[in-house]
Amino acid sequence: MSNLVKENRTGFQMPVLIYPTGALAPVISQATMEMHYGKHLQTYVDNLNKFVTGTDFEGLTLREIIMQAPPGPLLNNAGQVLNHSLYFEQFTPNPQGNNTPGHNLKEFIHFDFGNFETLKKKMEEAAASLFGSGWVWLAQEESGKLGIVSCPNGDTPLRHRMTPLYGIDVWEHAYYLDYQNRRAEHVKRLWEIVDWEMVESRLDI
Ligand code: MN
Repeated sequence: MSNLVKENRTGFQMPVLIYPTGALAPVISQATMEMHYGKHLQTYVDNLNKFVTGTDFEGLTLREIIMQAPPGPLLNNAGQVLNHSLYFEQFTPNPQGNNTPGHNLKEFIHFDFGNFETLKKKMEEAAASLFGSGWVWLAQEESGKLGIVSCPNGDTPLRHRMTPLYGIDVWEHAYYLDYQNRRAEHVKRLWEIVDWEMVESRLDI
């Protein structure tokens, strides 16, 4: 996961967007993508570099910073860089087949949630009930068990000793241009563009 975000002598770099900014429309419009990826994520990356410079955390990996930094601006921005790197990478303009999880992930989902429809419903409910800004993640505990974790603001599953698999960004900047206040509708539409192969590749099996 840490190789997602490259670091060189000038610091942490923007993760590469693996599709054109308009490719996920109409689920996520080009305008939202240009703001969200191009402006918001760029700011988190810039702030991460700013807040890490000259501290004991300089030179650590993104994961190490997230695991070790105390609550504050460095942790907030590191968490948001990780969350958004995983977020933009988990979508595809060309979902495969009927766009449901592949064999391995499906087995985990059936074991821990009963079926895929129940997982979707539970994530949608968690996204609707998260007050304010934050993330809802399908994540994996160290035991292998899957769970849904609600993360306020820039919190990440890593701080809960869980591996992030699929994340829903419920900050208004993720959907307001396209859906205004209709967060639930946005969350439902996202299922159409999930790259389940990518999500499954994050699974620890
Ligand atoms: Mn965001």
